[in-house]
Amino acid sequence: MELHKNDFLKGNPITIDTNVQLDLVKRHIQIVGASPVHFTGTATKMAHLYVVEGDVTGELTLDCARCLTPFPYHYQVMVKETFVDAEGGPDVQDGETDYFPLIEDKIQLDPSLQSAILLSLPQAIRCSDQCQGICPECGTNRNEKNCGCVVKRVDPRWAALGDLFNNKE
Ligand SMILES: [Zn+2]
Ligand SMILES: [Zn+2]
Repeated sequence: MELHKNDFLKGNPITIDTNVQLDLVKRHIQIVGASPVHFTGTATKMAHLYVVEGDVTGELTLDCARCLTPFPYHYQVMVKETFVDAEGGPDVQDGETDYFPLIEDKIQLDPSLQSAILLSLPQAIRCSDQCQGICPECGTNRNEKNCGCVVKRVDPRWAALGDLFNNKE
């Protein structure tokens, strides 16, 4: 979505309530699907600065990090971004705040929404806290059935003892 700086001539601040389709699939390793993104907020012009703030909500389809099964994931993320009209505006490389330049006199909001969503995602997202994952022995999804495999995890101290016995022969 974009706003032209002339849009502010009709009123300031501008109320935004819109749906945008962002290209989110595979931007994070687990994302396999994405519904349109809903953004509600305001854009306020202050001299040569334009501050856009609001909430972005939507639903992603993620592959579970443990059992690899796709599941729906809802997010709600706060967004606040400052754009600057380069003509007479402050230095865009101001170290304190990240300012984004207007492009052809327009605020381009999609990249900000996209990075806010991606940055909000935890590292390895599971379908539930109780997810049992995949059996390392037979590959069964242990949330669906108990395969009964005993996963061998030998205590390293006993393993050393085992080596001792084996070496006797
Ligand atoms: Zn899972
Ligand atoms: Zn198994």
